[in-house]
Amino acid sequence: MKPLGLYLHIPFCRSKCLYCDFCSLPARSEELIGAYVRRLCRDIAGWKEACREYTLQTVYFGGGTPTLLSAKQLEEILQTVRQTFSVEADCEVSAECNPATGDRELFSAMRAMGFNRLSIGLQSAHREELRALGRTHDFDGFLQTWNEARQAGFENLNVDVMFGIPYQTGESFAKTLEKLLPLSPEHLSAYALTLEEGTPLWRRADKLPFPDEEQTAKMYLRMVDFLGANGLEQYEISNFARTGYQSRHNRKYWDMEEYLGLGVAAHSDFAGVRFGNGRDIEAYLRGEDICAEKSVPGATERENEYVMLQLRLAEGLKNGAFRERFGHDATAFFAKMEPWIQKGLLRRTADGAAFTPEGFLVSNAVLSEIVEFEG
Ligand code: SF4
Repeated sequence: MKPLGLYLHIPFCRSKCLYCDFCSLPARSEELIGAYVRRLCRDIAGWKEACREYTLQTVYFGGGTPTLLSAKQLEEILQTVRQTFSVEADCEVSAECNPATGDRELFSAMRAMGFNRLSIGLQSAHREELRALGRTHDFDGFLQTWNEARQAGFENLNVDVMFGIPYQTGESFAKTLEKLLPLSPEHLSAYALTLEEGTPLWRRADKLPFPDEEQTAKMYLRMVDFLGANGLEQYEISNFARTGYQSRHNRKYWDMEEYLGLGVAAHSDFAGVRFGNGRDIEAYLRGEDICAEKSVPGATERENEYVMLQLRLAEGLKNGAFRERFGHDATAFFAKMEPWIQKGLLRRTADGAAFTPEGFLVSNAVLSEIVEFEG
């Protein structure tokens, strides 16, 4: 049996955050959500034959805000997953969640039906920063959701934070991280805010006080040290975990393993084919095929992509793993890394090379010199 990860996109949120470019829309009506769940279940069930030789190791409910669904709807989806796939006994079953979109009752029901990991979006502990992002919760609301998840029995919790956001200073970001430590998160994801064109935040960016590039870089480097000193080791450019709590689902992306993404805007890398859905919910609900992109990457493209993905990891690119996968050494890639090793942006490891924290800050520019992107 071949290992597989499953991503399910739930495109509904309470309201739209000002920076958001994800495929999510305000949850307008119960009927719309109900219709989406039914369509998603039909979609999942349709993969039974194609996935006969696969065993499911991870299921990830992303969005959007999956915890806007009722326990009954989540159960219906998971039941369909179980009827369709061979699910491993210790399958990681995660859901993204936003403060005040779940309560102890929902979380207890989720634990009972098999969810074992929750990822909760905080972004910042400061009201002014949250308001600038259009987030509708405050730190207390987050705390309540977090505590209710713990009380319901979730022993694997992630918290999302952001840096480089309006009104933020090095001090306020440090405070956000300090306030999280007593909660003993098993996992923390920290993303730099990117201003996506067309979003309300992008339109009024020049009226807001953003930290500059140097301040943002300092926030990142201090965070890496601070979290590492407190048991949350960096294992990927934006991700930190206690031992044994790396996200198994996200590792599949970075290790270029197979995964299936279902629902609007979901992407897949399955049986050698990469494909992605468009964002048209109405068309999806009508039962139309909403595949918007499809390609069969060749060997060179795969090698380049693999190098790029592995270098996102703190452990970096390993020659042995590369050789096992592609049948030859990664010599050409390592040769291109030499100047960056001299500059201290990459470092040699026992069997390869990895970015240093300073290197992660400029990884896109360095990668463009090391790998060839299709274009
Ligand atoms: S909660 Fe996440 S997905 Fe939903 S609107 Fe905000 S940023 Fe977008």
